[in-house]
Amino acid sequence: PKPLQAKTVRDYIRTIPDFPHEGIMFRDVTTLFADARGMRLCVDQLLAPFAGDRFDAVAGLEARGFILGGAVAHQLGTGFVPIRKKGKLPGKTFEQDYALEYGTATVEVHVDALQPGARVLLVDDLLATGGTAKAGIALLERLGAEVIGCAFVVDLPELGGRAALEQMGMPIHTLCSFD
Ligand code: AMP
Repeated sequence: PKPLQAKTVRDYIRTIPDFPHEGIMFRDVTTLFADARGMRLCVDQLLAPFAGDRFDAVAGLEARGFILGGAVAHQLGTGFVPIRKKGKLPGKTFEQDYALEYGTATVEVHVDALQPGARVLLVDDLLATGGTAKAGIALLERLGAEVIGCAFVVDLPELGGRAALEQMGMPIHTLCSFD
């Protein structure tokens, strides 16, 4: 008989084919976040390689990066900085455009969200092409912050995001991957 194995982070993720459009395998982390053990497991594992590092803040990418980022910031004892889609932040912002499959998108951060030199961990649920993360890193760097690393629950390595970010010298941590 097969021994009982505890569920891994990957086991909590649900795949929904053809969302938001045909041909996309949507990796749905709501089933991971909804589970008490899954949520704790994923926050603990996101931070594991950074044990002993000093951070001044966690930054999260809208929207699932906010859920993770808040929990990660609490665990680290830091504040949290949201990187939002254009038009949502009320104060003065820096903007960064990035390419989507069709067209472009823009993300923003408050110009006074971080002190220059702040050591930041960037988090999101999933790394695909890396375009969103790259835009986030660019914004954080415009604030004068130092992005110490990026942590994602899911990596889609075939889309090349990890390779592109590592090419820039950015430490990348992911918990699981899907083809
Ligand atoms: P990218 O900028 O290409 O790395 O895309 C990453 C962003 O798009 C993340 O914020 C993800 O939440 C979302 N995303 C891209 N592909 C998927 C997918 N297959 N399943 C779920 N979310 C995705």
